[in-house]
Amino acid sequence: PQGATSDYLAGLNPEQREAVETTEGPVLVLAGAGTGKTRVLTTRLAHILATGRAKPWELLVVTFTNKAAREMRERIGHLIGPSAEGLRWLGTFHSVAAQILRRHAELVGLKSSFTILDTDDQERLLKQLLEAANIDTKRFTPKSLAHMIDHWKNRGWTPDKLPPGEDFANGKGPALYAAYQARLATLNACDFGDLLLHNITILSKHADLAEEYRRRFRYILVDEYQDTNVAQYLWLRLLTSSTGNVCCVGDDDQSIYGWRGAEVDNILRFERDFPGAKVIRLERNYRSTKHILGAASALIAANQDRLGKTLWTEDDSGDKVRVRGVWDGEAEARLIADEIETARKQGMNYKDMAVLVRASFQMRAFEERFLMLAIPYVVIGGPRFFERAEIRDAHAYLRLIQSEDDDLAFERIVNTPKRGIGDTSVQKILHIARENGVSAMRAVRHLITTDELQARTRTPLANFVRDLDRWRDLMAMGTPHWQVTETLLDESGYTAMQKADRTSGQTRLDNLKELTQSMQSFETLQAYLEHVSLVMDLERRDENADGSGSVQIMTLHGAKGLEFPLVFLPGWEEGVFPSQRSIDEKGVKGLEEERRLAYVGVTRAKQDARISFAANRMVYGRWTSQLPSRFVDELPLAHVEPQSDTGYYGASSGMKEAKSRWDEAPSFGGGYSSPGWKRAQTYTAAQTPKPAYARRAVIEGEGRLIATADPKAASGWSR
Ligand code: ATP
Ligand code: MG
Repeated sequence: PQGATSDYLAGLNPEQREAVETTEGPVLVLAGAGTGKTRVLTTRLAHILATGRAKPWELLVVTFTNKAAREMRERIGHLIGPSAEGLRWLGTFHSVAAQILRRHAELVGLKSSFTILDTDDQERLLKQLLEAANIDTKRFTPKSLAHMIDHWKNRGWTPDKLPPGEDFANGKGPALYAAYQARLATLNACDFGDLLLHNITILSKHADLAEEYRRRFRYILVDEYQDTNVAQYLWLRLLTSSTGNVCCVGDDDQSIYGWRGAEVDNILRFERDFPGAKVIRLERNYRSTKHILGAASALIAANQDRLGKTLWTEDDSGDKVRVRGVWDGEAEARLIADEIETARKQGMNYKDMAVLVRASFQMRAFEERFLMLAIPYVVIGGPRFFERAEIRDAHAYLRLIQSEDDDLAFERIVNTPKRGIGDTSVQKILHIARENGVSAMRAVRHLITTDELQARTRTPLANFVRDLDRWRDLMAMGTPHWQVTETLLDESGYTAMQKADRTSGQTRLDNLKELTQSMQSFETLQAYLEHVSLVMDLERRDENADGSGSVQIMTLHGAKGLEFPLVFLPGWEEGVFPSQRSIDEKGVKGLEEERRLAYVGVTRAKQDARISFAANRMVYGRWTSQLPSRFVDELPLAHVEPQSDTGYYGASSGMKEAKSRWDEAPSFGGGYSSPGWKRAQTYTAAQTPKPAYARRAVIEGEGRLIATADPKAASGWSR
C-alpha cells in the first residue's frame, strides 16, 4: 500500500510523520497550539486504516466535541475514501460511553432504552429529593447539588465510594447522592456523568467484558488529552491494555477544564502508566503568524506551572496583534461590528471571523449590534435551541413514547396542553406510582380502570393514554418518527395552543418546524433522542448550526481546537477575564487556568487577532468601571500594537461622547484631565457611568492610548 500512503503522508514534518507511523505501542504527542496534533491524529487514523492494520470498527477515537468528531470523520473520508465508513467508535467520551452502556445497560440495572436526562430534568428531580429530605432548597439549591454530584462523578466516585468529608447540606450529601441514583434507576434514566461512571462500574466488575473490549479496540486515539478528567482517565485505562497501541495528543498549556475536574496530571502520568511510551514533541506551528505566536507565547510564559515548550513559525506575514481600549461594552460591539464589515468588504468571508468571549453575558451586545447591521452570525452553543420550552415539550412526548418509565417526561406533558388534569391529580398519580414501585404511566393505566381518581380526571387521562398508544403504534408501523412528531403535536392540541398565543406562538411553531426538519437526518427515534442528550451537555454546545457564511460567536472554552483567520477577543478586563472568581480565589491556580484560556484564545487566530477592553461595563445590572486585564499587560510590544484612534474611546468623537456623559453626572466629580490609577468600583445602572482609566493606560492630548511603565515590570506596555 506504499503508493496509497504517500498521498496523505506528504507534507508532514519528520516529527509529525514519526507520530503517524509509530502505530504500535503507546505514543504521547505533547505540543503547543497549532502544531498539527489533531492533524497527526487524523492522519494516523487514516494510516492505520489504509495499511490494513485494523478495521474501522476496531478503532476507538475520542475527540473533545461532537463537531470535532464530525470533522475528523469527514477528513478521513477525504484522505482514504469509503473505507473510513464504519468508524463506529469515533466520538466524544460521552457518545462512545453511551453506545457501550446501551449494550450492557442491564448490568447496572437499566434497560437499553434508558433516557439521558438533561440538566432541567435533573434539577427537577433533585428538587424533589431535597424537599423530601426537608432541606431548604433556597439555601441548598438543586443546581448546587447537581454540581456537587457532577463533581463526584467526574472523579469516578459512586455513592458507595464517596470519600469521607465529601458532603452537601450538612451531612446529607452521601444519602442524597444514593437516593438520586436510586431514583434514576427506577426512571430507567441516567445523567451525563453516569454514562462514564456506569461504564467504569461495568468494566471493572466484569473482567471478561473488559477484556473483550480491550481486544476489540486494537488502536486507541485521544485528542485534547490534557482535559481528560479522572473518570475519563479511568475509563480509558480500563479499555487499554498496558502494552496497548494508544496515542494521546495534548498541550498542558491548553488545559482549561480544571474547574470540571480535568487533570493535567494525566499527561504527566502517561509515561508512568505506559513505561517505554514514546513522547513526541512538535515545535513548528502551522497556524499563526509570528506576531500572534509571539503574543501568545509571551502570555503563557507568565504561568509558573507548565512544562514549557518551544514554538516557531515560518509565517512572518501579518500585522501585530491590536489591543484597543473602548468606552463601554456597546462601543466595543460597535467597533468590532464595523471591523467585521470592513473585513467583509475587503473580501473576507463572515465565517472566517470569530468573536470569542469569556462569559456568555458578553454575547448579547454583539448579537444586538450584528442584528442591527444585518451581519449574519451564529452563536455556537449559545442560548440553546434544545433548551427552549416547546422543544423540551416535544421531546417529552417522544421520550414517553420511547420509554414509559420516563416519569419526568410524563410529568412535563401530562397536562400540556391543558387537559384538565390538575397538579393535585398528577402528584397523586406519582405518589401511587412510587408506592407501588411502578412508573407513572403504569399507574395511570391501572387508575383509569378504577375509581380512585375522579371521573373528570379519569376521562382525559384515558384519552391521553389512548393517544400515546396510537402514536407509538404509528411509529411501530413504520411511519417516520418526524412525521409522527408532527401528528402528535397537532392531535395533542399543542399546535393549537401555540397558535392561540399571539405573542410568541409563531416563533415556537417555527422552532418546532425546525425540530421536525432536523429529526429527518436520524434513522431512528432513539438515535435522535440520543443525539439531543449528547448535544445538551454543558460545554459541548456545538451542534446548532454549521455556521458557514456567518460570524461565529462562542465562548473561549467552546473554541478549543478550532481556528479562524480573524479572531476578536473582547472583554479583556479584570473581573471579566480573568474572571472575578479566579481573582478572588486563594493561590494562582485559577488565574493560571484563565491565562491558559487566554493562550487558547489568541492561538485560535491564523492571520489576525484583535483584543479589546472597555472602561465601563454593565455586569449583572450594575455599571462597573473596569481595569484592563493583567493579561493585556503581559503582551509584549514587539508583537502588539496598542490602539485607541478607533473613534470609540480616547479619540475625538468617542472622547466627546464620553465627556458629555461625564458632564451629566456631576455628582461623581473629576474629569478627563486627571487620568491615572483608579480602582474599579461599581454603581447602579441608574447612575451615569464614570469614566475609568486603565491601570497603566493614560489619555494623551490627541487621545492616543499609551501605557506608562508599571513600577513592577519594565517590559510590556511601557514605551
Ligand atoms: P490545537 O492545539 O489548537 O488543537 P493542533 O496542534 O491540533 O492545534 P492542528 O489543528 O492539527 O493543530 O493544525 C493547525 C493547522 O496547521 C491546521 O490548519 C493544519 O491543517 C495545519 N498543519 C498542521 N500540520 C501541517 C503541515 N505539516 N503542513 C501544513 N499545514 C499543517
Ligand atoms: Mg487540535
